[in-house]
Amino acid sequence: MNSSKSTAWFLSLAAFCSASVLSIAEVNKAEQIAPDVYFHEGDLKGHGHCNNGWIVFEDYVLVVDGNFPSGAQEIIPKIKAITDKPIRFAFDTHHHGDHAYGNQIWVDNGAVPVAHTGVIEEMKKYETGYYGGKPGRWEETAKSRTDVAASKLKPPTLLYNKDMIFDDGKHRVELLHFGVAHTHGDGFAWLPKEKILFTGDACVNGPYNYMADGDSEQWVKTLAAAKKLGAQTICPGHGPMGPAQVLEDQQAFFVELRKEVKKYAVRKPEEVKAAVDDIKAALLKQKSIARYVGEFLTAQVEKVYLEMGGKPFQPKTAALNGHKQHAHEHGREWVQDK
Ligand SMILES: [Zn+2]
Repeated sequence: MNSSKSTAWFLSLAAFCSASVLSIAEVNKAEQIAPDVYFHEGDLKGHGHCNNGWIVFEDYVLVVDGNFPSGAQEIIPKIKAITDKPIRFAFDTHHHGDHAYGNQIWVDNGAVPVAHTGVIEEMKKYETGYYGGKPGRWEETAKSRTDVAASKLKPPTLLYNKDMIFDDGKHRVELLHFGVAHTHGDGFAWLPKEKILFTGDACVNGPYNYMADGDSEQWVKTLAAAKKLGAQTICPGHGPMGPAQVLEDQQAFFVELRKEVKKYAVRKPEEVKAAVDDIKAALLKQKSIARYVGEFLTAQVEKVYLEMGGKPFQPKTAALNGHKQHAHEHGREWVQDK
C-alpha cells in the first residue's frame, strides 16, 4: 500500500468510524444488538414509522413500541422469522400515533399493550373521540393514513406507575418513568445486563424533537435521571442507535436551546421569531448538537419562549401550527397508505 493509498484508506476508515459512532443501524432492518435483543430503525421519512426493539425471553417476546399499524405489520413478520415464541407484550413508550396507534395490530397478534399510566392520561387529553368527546388526534390522523383508518385506537391495558419488571433469570427488562419529557407519560425500557436503553422519543438521534406535548425544563431533568442508569447503547425513538453520547447530546440540545431562547425571553414575539436564524446559527456552531437542528426549530423556539412566559408567534405559520407540525413530524402527511 503506497502512502497516498494508505492515507485514503485511513481517511475512509476514520470516516467510517466517526459515522458509525452515532449511526449504526440501517433503516427497516432487524439488527441483533445483544443475544436475544433486537433493534429496528423505522422508516420515518417514507412511512412515519418509529423505531422498535424486541427482547426474546424464554417464553415470550416483549416488543418496544407499538408503532403505527403499518409499522407493526412491517416488523411482526421479522420477529416471527427470528423466533417462534409468542409476542406477548407491546410497550408503548408514549401516546403518540407513531408509537401507540399500532396497538390493535399487536392485540390481534396475541400481545397486550403496556405503558406508563401517564400514557392513558395523555390519551384522555388528546384522544377525545375514543373517550366519547369530539374527534381527536386518531380521527385527524385517519384522514391521511389508510393504515390508521383501517384499524382502531386501543389504549394500553397493562399499566405501571413507577416501574414494571420482566425477568426470566436470563434476561431482565425494566420499564421505567423519570418524569415529563417529550410527553407527560414517557416510558423507558432498560436492560441492566446489556446496558441497553430504549428511550422512545424522550431521546432521538437527529432533528426529530416534537416538543409541543412536553416541557423542555423538565425534559432536561428527565434525561439527567436516565443518564444515571449508565447505558452504553441508546436505542432512540427516531434516528439511528448509538452510544451513551446520544443521551448526552440530546440533553445538551435542550440546554443550549433554552440558553439561546432565554436571551430573548423578555422580548416581543415578533422579535423572538426574527431571531430564529441567529439562534439556529448559534446552535449549529456546536458540533455535538448540530444534528438536532432542523426544520422544526421555529416551533421549538416558540415552545421554549412560551414556557418562559412569552406569547405565541403571529401570524401562525404552518410550522407553528401544532397540529400540522405534529402531523409532519410523525409522517402523517407523507403517507397515504402503507
Ligand atoms: Zn412522539
